[in-house]
Amino acid sequence: MAADHLMMDAAEIRAVLPRKRSLDARQRHIFWRVNVDVFVGEDPPAALPPVAWKEARPGRAVVIIGMGPAGLFAALRLLEEGVKPVILERGKDHRARRRDIKAIFQEHRVDPDSNFGFGEGGAGTFSDGKLYTRAGKRGDPARILRILVQHGADADILVDAHPHVGSDRLWRTVQSMRETILARGGEIHFGARVDGFEIEAGRLLGVRAGGKEHRGDAVLLAAGHSARDLFEELHRRGIPLEAKPFALGVRIEHPQALINRFQYRDEAKNPALPAAAYHAACQAEGRGVYSFCMCPGGLMVPAATAMGEIVINGMSMAKRNSYWANAGFVASVDANDWAPWAAEGPLAGMRLQAEVEKNMAAAAGGTQRAPAQRAQDFLKGRPSPTLPKTSYIPGHVNAPLHEILPGWLVKALQEGLRQFEKKMSGFAGTDAVMVAPESRTSSPVRIPRDPQTLMHPQCAGLFPCGEGAGFAGGIVSAAIDGEKSAEGILRYLGV
Ligand SMILES: Cc1cc2nc3c(=O)[nH]c(=O)nc-3n(C[C@H](O)[C@H](O)[C@H](O)COP(=O)(O)OP(=O)(O)OC[C@H]3O[C@@H](n4cnc5c(N)ncnc54)[C@H](O)[C@@H]3O)c2cc1C
Repeated sequence: MAADHLMMDAAEIRAVLPRKRSLDARQRHIFWRVNVDVFVGEDPPAALPPVAWKEARPGRAVVIIGMGPAGLFAALRLLEEGVKPVILERGKDHRARRRDIKAIFQEHRVDPDSNFGFGEGGAGTFSDGKLYTRAGKRGDPARILRILVQHGADADILVDAHPHVGSDRLWRTVQSMRETILARGGEIHFGARVDGFEIEAGRLLGVRAGGKEHRGDAVLLAAGHSARDLFEELHRRGIPLEAKPFALGVRIEHPQALINRFQYRDEAKNPALPAAAYHAACQAEGRGVYSFCMCPGGLMVPAATAMGEIVINGMSMAKRNSYWANAGFVASVDANDWAPWAAEGPLAGMRLQAEVEKNMAAAAGGTQRAPAQRAQDFLKGRPSPTLPKTSYIPGHVNAPLHEILPGWLVKALQEGLRQFEKKMSGFAGTDAVMVAPESRTSSPVRIPRDPQTLMHPQCAGLFPCGEGAGFAGGIVSAAIDGEKSAEGILRYLGV
C-alpha cells in the first residue's frame, strides 16, 4: 500500500515502520488510520537502546512508600543511576493478593492491606490497563511504554493510539519489574504498612512500618489515593496537606452491543472491530459531569479498601469480550460540597468521600453487594421495579439511588443523563444500570511539594508523588511522576 501511495516500485522500499494506529469510526466507512515511516533508499535508524539498570551502590538508600506505578517507576529510575530503592508495600505479592481479591468477590471479605487498591503493583495491577494519558507535557509517556515492553508488555502498546493491556496480563509485567529491582540490589518489603514518620527539626529521617524503623537519605511517598490512614498520620504530625477537588458518582453499565451500535452503526456486528468505547462530558447544575475510565467488554469490580464501605471500579481482560460495557459517570466535587466537614481541614473532602461509601454499604446491607438502579428510573426519580443482570460479581441490591446519594450529586447526574441521552440514544435507556458509588476517581487530598525541588516545603527529605499526592491520575501519569520525583531525589542527593 505504501508503494502504491508513493507511486513507486515496492522493491525500492527498504522498510515500513508503524508509528501510530487508531480506529476512525466518525464516518460511514470505518477504517484503521495508520501512520507509518517508509524508508526508501536508506535503512531505518537503529531502535532506541533499551533502558539499562545498574547495580545499587552500597551506602545510599531511598525509602519508597508504595509499590504502585509511581513507586515502581521511581525505583527503576533510581537504579538507572545506581541508587538503592527500599520499597515498603503494605500489601502482598500479586499471587497472594489474587486470593484476597477472590475473597472479596466470593465472601465479601475485604483485607485492609490486600485488595484491588493495595498490594504489588498498586491499583495498577488489577486495573483495566488502559495506558493512554494526557500527561505528555509532564514527561515522556513513550518511555514509560517502552519500559513496560522491556518487561513483557505487548509491543502493540507502542503504536496503538489507545493502548490497553488488560487485567489478565498486567501482573506479568509487574512481576518482571519486581525481578529487575531485586536483581539490581533494590529491596522490596511486602506486608510493610508505614504507620509513622521519624521527623527531627523539620527533616524526615525515616519511617516506621510494623514496629520496624527504616531510615533513608530521602523518602518518596507514593501511597496512592486510598491511603487514608497515612493522610491522617501526616495531618496528625502537623505536615501541611490540602483538600483537593475530585469527582464522585456511579458506574453505569450497558450491554456492549448498545455501545457498538452507537459508535459503529451498520458495522456494529463486524467481528473485525474491537468493543467500542465512548467518552462524554457536559456541564450540568454548575459542575462538570463526565464519563470516566470506560471499560469496553469489561466488568465492574469491588474496589473497597476496608470493610463497611462500597467502592465500584471497572476492568477488562485483554480481549475485552464480556457482554457488558461500563464507565464511571461522575460529577466534579469541590469545597462547597465538603463544607459540612470543614472542621476537618484538609481531610474534609476525604470525609465526604468516605461518608458516601459507608452510606452506600449500609443501604445495601453491609456486604460487598452494591446499591443499583436503572438509569431511566434514576432520571425519573422512581424506584426500579426490577434490575437486569450486571457484571458485578458480588451482586447488587435494588435501591433508590436518587434518594440515598447526596441531593446535589443526584441533580447533576440526572441532568448529565438527559444530556448524554441526547447524544447517545439508549445511554439512559432501560438496559442502563447505575451502581454506586464510583468514588475513588482521584485523590481528595494534595500533599504539597515545591515545584522545583519536588520536596515537601515544610518537611525536608519527603517527596510526595503519584496519584495519592495529587500529582497524577492513571497508570502512565503516575509512572511519569514517579520518574520525575526520583530525578528530584537524585538532585537532592547530588547524584
Ligand atoms: C479497578 C481499577 C481500574 C483502573 N483502570 C485504570 C486504567 O485502565 N488506566 C489507568 O491509567 N488507570 C487505571 N486505574 C487507576 C490506576 O491504577 C491508578 O491511577 C494508579 O495505579 C496510581 O498509581 P500510584 O502509584 O500513584 O498509586 P497506587 O497504584 O494506588 O499505589 C499505591 C501503593 O501504596 C501502597 N500503600 C498505601 N498505603 C501504604 C502504607 N501506609 N504503607 C505502605 N504502602 C502503602 C498501596 O498498597 C499501593 O500498592 C484503575 C484503578 C482501579 C482500582
